[in-house]
Amino acid sequence: MSKRIYSDLKTELDNIRGSGMYKSERILGSPQSAEITLSDGSKVINFCANNYLGLANHPEVEKAAKITIGDWGMGLASVRFICGTQKIHKELEAKVSQFLGMEDTILFSSCFDANGGVFEPLLDEDSAIISDELNHASIIDGVRLCKAKRFRYKHSDMAELEQCLKQSQVSKYRLIVTDGVFSMDGDIANLPAICDLAEKYDALVMVDDSHATGYIGDTGRGSIEYHHVQDRIDILTTTFGKALGGSSGGSISGKGELIEFLRQRSRPYIFSNTIAPPIVGAVLKVLDLIMESTNFRNHVMTNANYFRKGMTEAGFDIIQSDTAIVPVMIYDEQTAVKMADKLLAEGIYVIGFTYPVVAVGKARIRVQLSAAHSLYHLDRAIHSFTKIGKELGILK
Ligand SMILES: *Cc1c(COP(=O)(O)O)cnc(C)c1O
Repeated sequence: MSKRIYSDLKTELDNIRGSGMYKSERILGSPQSAEITLSDGSKVINFCANNYLGLANHPEVEKAAKITIGDWGMGLASVRFICGTQKIHKELEAKVSQFLGMEDTILFSSCFDANGGVFEPLLDEDSAIISDELNHASIIDGVRLCKAKRFRYKHSDMAELEQCLKQSQVSKYRLIVTDGVFSMDGDIANLPAICDLAEKYDALVMVDDSHATGYIGDTGRGSIEYHHVQDRIDILTTTFGKALGGSSGGSISGKGELIEFLRQRSRPYIFSNTIAPPIVGAVLKVLDLIMESTNFRNHVMTNANYFRKGMTEAGFDIIQSDTAIVPVMIYDEQTAVKMADKLLAEGIYVIGFTYPVVAVGKARIRVQLSAAHSLYHLDRAIHSFTKIGKELGILK
């Protein structure tokens, strides 16, 4: 009977294909950059990466990775508590702490793992976690691994958050958790209101700033800088796989005793290899570059504002925000998919997002800007969007 799973899986796969939700991966023939090569050899302008600062193939970052392989090898073939850790990992933890203005930092091989390892050690059944409904899947999974009571509020609905805080008064510890920037709408969490409520009801605040670290805020410290709440956040998780060079790795930052405790108890930290040395070297270089100069974050924000303005003037319905995520609202599912296909044929690589990733009737094309884009790239995109928009009857 058990072997029947294979034929059942085939049926399931056919169902997924039939529903139009099958995720096929494009094979890329080049590094991540403003322009990339697809497997058929065609060149397209890329607007669907989280390469906000354009550092994924920056020569100095690549050079740092190569030097670090030479000096430190590929890795320790062990977890940190058994065989020890390398100096560069401690350096990276110190530099992330310095950059984010937090006391201490612990590294994980991804932010998915960071979120998987943060709740369970700190909160048991006597505690409560209060979560925005649009939080990232890794937060949802991390919360599932822990016994704390769960509360969920409507996206950015501060009245509902307050209700949750009132309902959870009996809990020992309470933690409000939110994404700093939400990936589908590109909006920034209302951190001042969240921190005020946390203070009023004696709760802790955790922000996952994966889509913000490196470019949001005047010096790129993230949504916590944008909203001037750096001193009011208890736990901050983020990724090195987006703005900070696009490779991989994640971290949790917070007060010294909290981070020290996580080193003793966080399972993905204790039982999984840490970040490979070349990546550590690359992220150290990225942090040096962006602490020396705000040019990268200024450039991506200038690009985002230019694109938003051009698209709004062209007549498109854009969700406005202060991030480099620009959702172009198409609403109808089939039109959004068709539009993304036609744009790709024009050399503009964007993705249409439909239900269940976004609500029914809220289909959109998400455009992500990068400091790697030039004005030429942006003008090409606005031109092609306008052309296809007219063809499909979205624009008059
Ligand atoms: C991308 C993302 C993650 C996952 O980061 P990885 O380092 O790739 O695992 C976690 N949380 C949020 C909010 C993200 O956007």
